[in-house]
Amino acid sequence: MDFAYSPAENLFREELRDWLSDHLVGEFRRYPGVGGPSDDSHWEIREEWERELAADQWLSISWPQQYGGRGGTLNQEIISYLEFAEARAPYWVGVQGRDLFGPTLLHFGTDAQKARFLPPIARVEKFWSQGFSEPEAGSDIASLRSRAVLDGDEWVVNGQKIWNTFGMHADWIYVLCRTDPSSERHRGISMLMVERDQPGVDVRPIRTLAGTHEFCEVFLTDARTPADHVIGSVGGAWQVMMGTLGQERALTTLPMILSFRHEVDAAIETARRRRTSDDPVVRQQLARAYSGMEIIRWTNYRMLTSLMRNGQLGPESSVAKLMWAEWHRNMGELAMRLEGIASEIIGPSYDLESSQLSALNARAETIYGGSSEVQRNIVGERALGLPK
Ligand SMILES: Cc1cc2nc3c(=O)[nH]c(=O)nc-3n(C[C@H](O)[C@H](O)[C@H](O)COP(=O)(O)OP(=O)(O)OC[C@H]3O[C@@H](n4cnc5c(N)ncnc54)[C@H](O)[C@@H]3O)c2cc1C
Repeated sequence: MDFAYSPAENLFREELRDWLSDHLVGEFRRYPGVGGPSDDSHWEIREEWERELAADQWLSISWPQQYGGRGGTLNQEIISYLEFAEARAPYWVGVQGRDLFGPTLLHFGTDAQKARFLPPIARVEKFWSQGFSEPEAGSDIASLRSRAVLDGDEWVVNGQKIWNTFGMHADWIYVLCRTDPSSERHRGISMLMVERDQPGVDVRPIRTLAGTHEFCEVFLTDARTPADHVIGSVGGAWQVMMGTLGQERALTTLPMILSFRHEVDAAIETARRRRTSDDPVVRQQLARAYSGMEIIRWTNYRMLTSLMRNGQLGPESSVAKLMWAEWHRNMGELAMRLEGIASEIIGPSYDLESSQLSALNARAETIYGGSSEVQRNIVGERALGLPK
């Protein structure tokens, strides 16, 4: 790993810091680090913040300029994530489009698809959601049952999707469905872009533990989309989907991971306030949380180094995902324990303290982007060469 920034990168960082000190003020300051990849709280203010970033091209940094990006480097993109986390900026809402769908389309889409769909994402005008999982197909996505058939120059899509993050806010869904009825398992599946605003698409919110409606179930009943709205080849979605999931394990959650330090600091502060910071058991738990957080940071740097060198991720992204998701779940429990009995009280309007929100949302993190068990399988089989 090379931690030294080049002069150009230093300049970029200084410029961003100056911009943040001018713009991360007033109302935006009231939401430090608020939100997350599966937390849609305070959506409007976060969207406003994101538009402000986009207007001065501080988002989509590594995307080509012709598609609405800044035309910068991956390093600059990562530096921006570090700076947003450091400055405690609100977490962005366009994560599904910009950090998951966008890079997938950049890699696998046609020029025409990129020119049409990427600029509105970069300008924070259009939102996307991911329609992969189904009630009977999560970890084992190859068992999905949604189908699409060509009818003239349109696909007709039928099926049910679930756990569709930020589905209520999405204008478009990228859907995995079987387009070759005679195919089995991971063959014959296509990724289609389906516009949400049509009679055949019914998006229904699901209430989460944290009291929000961040994800939805989606019913597709004769939903229609043009024949050329396929990403990659017809029947060849498997490789495309792997690209999306690799992205989900790598950069999407990075700003949140880099903010973990603030949660450790807050826990130490709670222990001091509640006069438990001299308790040797509490001290040991805090020390373990702190060292875990540092190990996660270095593991992520190692993963990013590999990404920069090889342009793609290997099983190290699974190691990183496994570590941060399990650490964060334990951190949430520790923060609640340190608060004592008060941590169990929720007000009548279901308003949650940030530690409560974080602890509840962390339960989802060992599931989305591939569950911990699935990550262990990947590490065991692909990194260590163990038998299935
Ligand atoms: C907050 C959140 C947001 C999400 N957002 C989206 C989204 O936007 N779009 C989308 O398409 N999906 C989304 N998902 C769905 C997510 O991808 C699935 O929940 C995940 O893939 C697990 O699938 P499942 O829930 O069907 O559980 P299952 O696959 O049924 O797993 C049940 C249990 O079995 C274990 N298990 C499964 N297979 C194996 C195996 N081979 N070896 C060992 N153990 C195994 C799992 O680890 C788990 O503990 C989201 C999920 C959450 C929690």
